[in-house]
Amino acid sequence: MARHSSVSDHGISHPGLANLPAGDHLPSSALPSRRELEKEISKYLADKYGEQIKVMSDFPAAESEADKSGEKVAPPSATPEIFNFQLKPEELVAYLDEYVIRQDRAKAVLATKICTHFNRIRYAAEKGWLDRRSPGQVKSNVLLIGPTGVGKTFLIKLIARRLGVPFVKGDATKFSETGYVGRDVEDLVRDLVKEAGGAIDRAEFGIIYVDEIDKIAGSEDRLTHDVSRTGVQRALLKPMEETEVELKVPNDPISQLEAIEYYRTHGKREGRMVNTRNILFIMSGAFTGMDEIVQKRVGRQSIGFESTVTSKNKTTLYLKQAKAEDLIRYGFESEFVGRLPVISVLDELSEEDLYRIMCNPNNSVVLGKKQDFRAYGIKLIFEDDALREIAARAVQEKTGARGLVSVMERFLLPFEKKLPSLDLDCLVVSKAMVVEPEAELAGLLADPARAEFHRRRFEVLEGEEQDQIVEFLRNSRADCFLREEIAGSPNRLRLMARICQADNLESNEACLAMVEILGYIRECEAEFSSEDLRVEFDQTAEDEILASLPAGRTEVVAICEKVFRICEPGLRLMGGKKGIREAVFTAEAIIDPEKFINKLVQTSFIV
Ligand code: ADP
Repeated sequence: MARHSSVSDHGISHPGLANLPAGDHLPSSALPSRRELEKEISKYLADKYGEQIKVMSDFPAAESEADKSGEKVAPPSATPEIFNFQLKPEELVAYLDEYVIRQDRAKAVLATKICTHFNRIRYAAEKGWLDRRSPGQVKSNVLLIGPTGVGKTFLIKLIARRLGVPFVKGDATKFSETGYVGRDVEDLVRDLVKEAGGAIDRAEFGIIYVDEIDKIAGSEDRLTHDVSRTGVQRALLKPMEETEVELKVPNDPISQLEAIEYYRTHGKREGRMVNTRNILFIMSGAFTGMDEIVQKRVGRQSIGFESTVTSKNKTTLYLKQAKAEDLIRYGFESEFVGRLPVISVLDELSEEDLYRIMCNPNNSVVLGKKQDFRAYGIKLIFEDDALREIAARAVQEKTGARGLVSVMERFLLPFEKKLPSLDLDCLVVSKAMVVEPEAELAGLLADPARAEFHRRRFEVLEGEEQDQIVEFLRNSRADCFLREEIAGSPNRLRLMARICQADNLESNEACLAMVEILGYIRECEAEFSSEDLRVEFDQTAEDEILASLPAGRTEVVAICEKVFRICEPGLRLMGGKKGIREAVFTAEAIIDPEKFINKLVQTSFIV
């Protein structure tokens, strides 16, 4: 017998192995799996030496069978979704408008350039040109200029979320601190893979955001000519254009362990690379002092300032004129600037802007606080003058919209601590509470009648808030709102506003929740319909179901099933005697199915 393996050397015969001539290959399906082999060896050893001996192959597997036979162990994910990218710049702007106050220019620039970047990828994929690249082609990497808390990160996060691409944020100051710039940037690329759930083909179309990029400017105009900073810039050049990053970090113990784990689970070595060719780099920074450089270049007159323009606005106006040459004078290498072909300047936010941010039903600070209190069964709502006071205090912090979080946390903390222990289900935030939280809390605790006041006032404000949300939804141009089933009925917007309020949802989430509920109703129609009976829930029935704010599929199906179960005998009767083959359920059927079917049967028999 041919000697095939050490297994047969030791006298264990496998039915498939035993009769094979040397050099023959087994079809992969005929080979035992690792588990089967383990079991078989265990059985042999147990027969020979007793039960106390067991085979445990908890060691890294050799190349797996499937791998040997040329099959991929972990097949690459299906075509990345980005290859179906169809979004137009205006649609993306409409989405951003739902969340971001002001910054219209930045919204337009980002939406256009980012949409074009991904549409080009989709087009190239369709044509099979994905690997082709003309030497002069420049990626639409973007430089965002603006002070802290004005929406730079927020815009990019929203765009990544809408596009469904992975996103990571890093800090340029960290690069210069460690001195391992290349490593740091490569780490961001690896983080992108983690964000993409390990799917390299998704990570390769992700977005990397690097903040505080102005901190790596090494200006000759200034006193220090900082060589290490320009070194940092140079290290960024390759990844920003195109380079291959190894997924595994050489010499890093954690990475080594991960590699062993990968080998164990996938049965092959992890030698995977991430290509940065299609990864979009967004850099941002405040660029303090660059306005002066621009001013020197353009001269005071050419901007045409009116005497009413404040110095803050002047800074922004000059920055908006910034060109590549100003960035070079600021301390950036021309190659670095060349890789950032798109520049956008964001506006500072005024007190009025901060107030408007909080009035937006999608504002995460207000929604977040409402959710915090809702976790204790307390519904929170804000008086208008309380929002004005919060904005006035936040603007003093000079951290843009970030100030809203700190002001809000500061005055609400005593309430968040104390109220969960009390029997209070509504809290109306007044201006006095913002100004003197401790005194107001003491007053609330001392006077039980105040709970009733809060409840009544809450109802009034909730009604007003609902009107505002309806108005907001009416003006929404985001794609969810353009669907026929949503845009078709004005009543739907009010129902959607109620969904927003009930669950503290963003407008898009509420819209999608509504679309989902309508989808469940369609499923029920299909399930109840048969060859001799077509079942439909009309728009009034749908609205009635939506008005009950069903929590999910189970509740929707339960409502529809109840109606159908009660009406079915009557419908069958009408089908048998009168040949009626269609049932259209209205709102009445949802409210009182017995009454609905009785009336229907009566009229059909009278006619
Ligand atoms: P930065 O400009 O420093 O990157 P962020 O974008 O992180 O600031 O802003 C912090 C938070 O402030 C955001 O998560 C968002 O909730 C809010 N915010 C900032 N700017 C705006 C804006 N223009 N409109 C609405 N919310 C904003």
